[in-house]
Amino acid sequence: MTIKGDLLIRGGTIVDPARNFLDKADILIRGDRVVDIPVDEKIQAEKVIEATNCLVLPGLIDYHTHLFHSGTQIGIYPDSALLPQGVTTAVDQGSAGVTNFDSFFKTVVNNSQMRIFAHLHASPAGLSTLTRSLEPIDPNLFDAECARSLFKKYDKELLGLKIRQSKEIVGEWGLAPLKATVQMANTLGCRVVVHTTNPPGEVEELVSLLRSGDVFTHVYQGKGSNIINERGKIRQAVREARTKGVLFDTADGRGHYAFSVAKAAIADGFEPDIISTDIVRGSLYERTVFGLPLIMSKYLNLGISLEKVVKACTSAPARVIGMEGKIGTLAPGAYGDIAVFQLKEIPLHIQDVFGEVLTCDQVFIPQMTVLNGRVVYRSLEF
Ligand SMILES: [Zn+2]
Repeated sequence: MTIKGDLLIRGGTIVDPARNFLDKADILIRGDRVVDIPVDEKIQAEKVIEATNCLVLPGLIDYHTHLFHSGTQIGIYPDSALLPQGVTTAVDQGSAGVTNFDSFFKTVVNNSQMRIFAHLHASPAGLSTLTRSLEPIDPNLFDAECARSLFKKYDKELLGLKIRQSKEIVGEWGLAPLKATVQMANTLGCRVVVHTTNPPGEVEELVSLLRSGDVFTHVYQGKGSNIINERGKIRQAVREARTKGVLFDTADGRGHYAFSVAKAAIADGFEPDIISTDIVRGSLYERTVFGLPLIMSKYLNLGISLEKVVKACTSAPARVIGMEGKIGTLAPGAYGDIAVFQLKEIPLHIQDVFGEVLTCDQVFIPQMTVLNGRVVYRSLEF
């Protein structure tokens, strides 16, 4: 019998951590889905792409992005910025709040090809005041009723709440904004993603407020109290939080990681659950963010295995988003979202904001991106 399909990607090395699969294999797409290729069957495809010497990954999921280009000064255009980087799904982390989420949905989510999800900022106007001033953080301004109606209206796209807990943002409020956000999330039945750079007080106190499923973002940040204790090990409270089900996301940005923290954590067995960028207008195509493939390269060169790096940008965030098995995997029946890379030996130096330099020699270079079975990016050389 002959199996028919629209797109065949042939001869690549498939990395699909959702199925514990890392081997040479072909991928067949029919319509917008991956189809099973039974052994010894002949394949007939409309379009055949040779991917020899390439890594074939599920379309990447960037769990921490800023995409509100029409309503903030930091937002990027999702399709043009992210599809060429192999990213087919993105989560906006709190660019919009209750006063401007409708506008975010209409101008960004509705106008993009790629899959977009979002966390609603607990502060009503999201990040629309950046970069002139920080978001107002007085918990009395939070509007749970308005949030509730938005969660009802956008039940597929809205995944949870976002709050930023840096000293310079919260001032005298300390951890009160996080407490109020968790309380609001309890009534909405959703997750909280908390930004943790230079936190007010110690990490122990912050992390103790998080519930199973909440996300501690910028896990390797190095300003103020961080996840490493004075003995250079992971703090006990941080380990306990992970055991409880709190998730840890990198969201590196330009300044939200320190190699000293990342190296100590990884040496102590504390690898990230999710690897993401925190990409904004000023860091797109700029080192040291550039895009998700560069952030992935960084962690690969910090000693995290290929399978784990890919998992942290595919099946792990797919599960958090509630799309397990549908995206973030190349299993038959999943959406035809694919990212083809070459792992090239390019000498590359990445410097963190503390001046420490990491030399990378293995770098993910995007070759082709497929979204819903359609080629949406291809390098001229591929
Ligand atoms: Zn962010």
